[in-house]
Amino acid sequence: MFIRSLLIQQFRNIHSAELEFSPGFNVFYGANAQGKSNLLEAIYTLSFLKGFRADKLSELIEFDARKSVLSAVVQNGNAATRLGIELDAHTRRAFVDGMPCSRARDFLGILRSILFVPMDVGFLQAAPATRRTMLDRMIFNLKPAYLFDLDQYQKLSKQKSAVLHSEVPDEALLDVYDAQIQPAAIRIIEARYDYLQCIAGYIKRVFSAIFDDSFECMTVYKCATFRDDIVFGGDTAVSKSDLVNAYLLSQKGARAKEIARQQMALGPHRDDWSIVLNGRQAKYFASQGQQRSMCLAMKMAEIECLRQEADIEPVFLLDDVSSELDPVRHRRLFEYLNALTAQTFLTTTAREHVHIESVGRIFHVENGGIEYEC
Ligand code: ATP
Ligand code: MG
Repeated sequence: MFIRSLLIQQFRNIHSAELEFSPGFNVFYGANAQGKSNLLEAIYTLSFLKGFRADKLSELIEFDARKSVLSAVVQNGNAATRLGIELDAHTRRAFVDGMPCSRARDFLGILRSILFVPMDVGFLQAAPATRRTMLDRMIFNLKPAYLFDLDQYQKLSKQKSAVLHSEVPDEALLDVYDAQIQPAAIRIIEARYDYLQCIAGYIKRVFSAIFDDSFECMTVYKCATFRDDIVFGGDTAVSKSDLVNAYLLSQKGARAKEIARQQMALGPHRDDWSIVLNGRQAKYFASQGQQRSMCLAMKMAEIECLRQEADIEPVFLLDDVSSELDPVRHRRLFEYLNALTAQTFLTTTAREHVHIESVGRIFHVENGGIEYEC
């Protein structure tokens, strides 16, 4: 899929823009604080119905403006779909081909995009919740129905926690919640297992292509209800049903403890994951450049995974990609990007950082204005 055109009105510092894109590379260059990341955030918002830096949707509206409008034509094979979003201080309205779309899940998944922003590089050092969200978003990109399981799990867990906090918890009600939570929890555990296993091979390949083929990169699932870490990328002896059984076992007889502590027993809400480089936790041993390459490799692995597993070609949003890699890695990264056929939106402060063989279109970004150059 690719974005043919994009209209932006009063979104962050971009007052108004109407752009046509190349199905290949689209480069946006400009000095700091001109609106490059804001442009990527507009595309991201059309994918996920939320920004990647905003806590509240109202933060996306241009200062002093009352509303913001985004619209894009997304080409997928022979079909073109027009996506639209209107934001005001309190509401978000989504449109598909001009028709209001009241359910988020009918909108999400039409424009699949994968984003790399410099702050992603810290994902290994981040709190487990940040990594979980990152993993969940990757899975959801591949399998939009996953969002349903997550929502279900989170909603029911919240309700169950409220019962656990009551003075005399109603055990019959807790039974009802348990019966409803378990199937969603199992589907989440299975989806995380499948996904981390699926991208392990791709990460390994991309990382060695960009960085160094003497390094072995593996993914690790730290399932909260299983005794050991599960390492993917080599031989994994632990099966999905081992994990499911361990989860079910952990829930059995947990009731008394849950009531005493007023909190839910372990479950997917406490899962984590990580990356191992040459047998060691990358979090503690990988260099800055390795972590950056690993993060990029993960994003590219996500593209490969979508392509191979679901026959989906997402768009790739690369924010300020060029900093921190040495010249050799930088060149290798661009060799890899050149071979990638996904539509790519790339921002940079310096045009000379971009070594694309066939740049589709170049845009200059200045003070919220985006000018097509060539
Ligand atoms: P850098 O190279 O430093 O990453 P950038 O070109 O990516 O810069 P952006 O992050 O896109 O810069 O931000 C551009 C400007 O938009 C910033 O000055 C920021 O303060 C401003 N900005 C952020 N939110 C809004 C908003 N809601 N309304 C108006 N301006 C905003
Ligand atoms: Mg930026």
